[in-house]
Amino acid sequence: MISYKLTADEIVSANPDLAILPIGSIEQHGPHLPVMTDYAIITAIGKGVAEKTNGYLLPTLPISTCREHMGKKGSVWMEPPTFYNMVTDIVMSLKTQGFNKVCILSGHGGIFILTPITRDLNAKNNPDLMVATVEIMAIFQSLTEDGLIDSKLEIHAGEIETSMMLYLAPETVHMDRAVDFIPTVGRPMLNYGSIFRASPAGVWGEPSYATAEKGKLILERAIEKGVSQMNYIFDYMEKKEKFGYSYF
Ligand SMILES: [Zn+2]
Repeated sequence: MISYKLTADEIVSANPDLAILPIGSIEQHGPHLPVMTDYAIITAIGKGVAEKTNGYLLPTLPISTCREHMGKKGSVWMEPPTFYNMVTDIVMSLKTQGFNKVCILSGHGGIFILTPITRDLNAKNNPDLMVATVEIMAIFQSLTEDGLIDSKLEIHAGEIETSMMLYLAPETVHMDRAVDFIPTVGRPMLNYGSIFRASPAGVWGEPSYATAEKGKLILERAIEKGVSQMNYIFDYMEKKEKFGYSYF
């Protein structure tokens, strides 16, 4: 696997044109999961995607934007413009050294600034640089539609995330403290009050259905789906020709 664990000379001789940047979050995940949950899950998915694509795997960015989890200690965020500038700088440093494809793997559903980051980088740099952003929330949604899990909804710390953590880091999971909770309001209400207004436990889903076996299966499927979504996006961009004055 081509990753940050190699020497610079080894990376030069492998000469990858794709880089993979996983992004996590350090945020509360209910009474039963650690605050590193998003970080741990997207790190495992990133490794799997890199193995399947021969992309250059970067270390996971641990912290992003998670204001919606304010209220208990341990969740850490930065301001969206800071995050915009940081990710843009990282991607542009990759372009400078000849990477022409970057896949951003987002392991936290609340990084809404990723949409303008992705759109601006592509609008300004296509066709020399293409950025594909793969969102874990969309992958979770498709796993639910595939019938891979038993609960109906996964927003936060539910069956999917809990299963994956039971598989990846069981020593950090406290199933005896797990609480199922589906709020009566929709996810957009997180713009108007923290998750604790909608769910006192900070859970949005049904972790009681979780098992380590499901976690293994979910991880494999999430890697497959992540790779196919990434390829779909790059194929779409590669087919574009100049339109008027623009390659975007
Ligand atoms: Zn999470």
